[in-house]
Amino acid sequence: MRQAVEYCGLKPDRRGLCLCPFHPDRHPSLKIYPDGKGFYCFTCGAGGDPITFVARYREISNAAAARELAAAFSIPLQTPVSYREKREVERTARRRKETAAWAKRAGIYMKVYRGLLCDAIRERNEHFEEGLKNLTWAEYMIEQLEENPEQVYKDRKAVKKIGTIEERVNHWYL
Ligand SMILES: [Zn+2]
Repeated sequence: MRQAVEYCGLKPDRRGLCLCPFHPDRHPSLKIYPDGKGFYCFTCGAGGDPITFVARYREISNAAAARELAAAFSIPLQTPVSYREKREVERTARRRKETAAWAKRAGIYMKVYRGLLCDAIRERNEHFEEGLKNLTWAEYMIEQLEENPEQVYKDRKAVKKIGTIEERVNHWYL
């Protein structure tokens, strides 16, 4: 179950908890059970096994999810894995790499931005209002980028806003 969840780019903590991708989740409420007992979200009630998790997460059929997991983890199937499914697995791996690289860079800029906002609030300088307005958002995004980079990356609005922060940081003192 954990491997399937991680395959989707989510990162359960040591207790097997992570943010639920099936509802807007701010505090980890999705529990991953060991020994093949599947997953369950305490907030929205989503639950199931690795196949239904991947199917719902990627919005594909259970059969497609099963074949994709089989291809990803080299689990032999009676039906041969098609070329298309192999390509899908490669595409997922590529997307994850791309997301991870983006999230790393975004995280660095967001942390610098958080520092600048904290200074602004403490010093009550010309960026004071921006500090009050954006500090909570910056902290939330830093947390999300670490715990749930895939979901942040899927949110085009968030990606766009984070993109503007890079420039904001670079021009802060100008
Ligand atoms: Zn949920």
